[in-house]
Amino acid sequence: MSIIEQLVKDGYLKTPRIIKAFRKIKRKDFVLPQLKSEAEMNYPLTIGFGQTISQPLTVAFMFELCQPKKGNKVLDIGSGSGWTTALFAEIVGKEGKVYGIERIEELKNFGEGNTKKYDFVSSGRAVFICGDGSKGLKEHAPFDVIHVGAAAASIPRPLLKQLKVGGRLVIPVGLKSQEIVLVKKIASDRYKEERYPGFIFVPLISD
Ligand code: SAM
Repeated sequence: MSIIEQLVKDGYLKTPRIIKAFRKIKRKDFVLPQLKSEAEMNYPLTIGFGQTISQPLTVAFMFELCQPKKGNKVLDIGSGSGWTTALFAEIVGKEGKVYGIERIEELKNFGEGNTKKYDFVSSGRAVFICGDGSKGLKEHAPFDVIHVGAAAASIPRPLLKQLKVGGRLVIPVGLKSQEIVLVKKIASDRYKEERYPGFIFVPLISD
């Protein structure tokens, strides 16, 4: 059984449009060539520069918390391999847009190159930017969904500001032990938080 079917069977992937995207956007298109045989494994894999493509279970869990929808505008911080940015691009569809931001230029190019295997970059549905995502992306805010693929010491305030009312921020928080935090913006200055411990991430590095 493929890793995606296993995640569906185990109840990690639940939402039909998210399941459909995970079936279509193949992890093997986003790993280093020498690691293709391990793309179906449920663990992180190196993408160089001390960084990883995340574990499928973790990505599935975070996508279910993000609940991206058709037409959404998404900010994907720490785009790395491009896998999560491409998954969002598939889900938001032609009317939506995803900005992937990555601080390591070589990885920004790696992720963008991988995503070109699908029709998301030339169509402008996915845009890759090199920069410090901890500040968000003010010029394209507000966002329906902000997904962060690296752990912050605390929730960066600009990300809360750049979220639409009704929007969701999903971010790993904590340096020694980490938890995934879901923040729902329920009014311009009111937020609701849920916390899920037991995950491990590379750190979010602010410039
Ligand atoms: N979503 C990615 C994927 O599917 O491959 C996960 C990649 S990795 C777990 C996290 C990425 O966050 C790394 O590529 C790292 O360079 C990047 N990163 C760390 N701090 C960052 C920051 N402040 N701004 C943007 N990217 C950052």
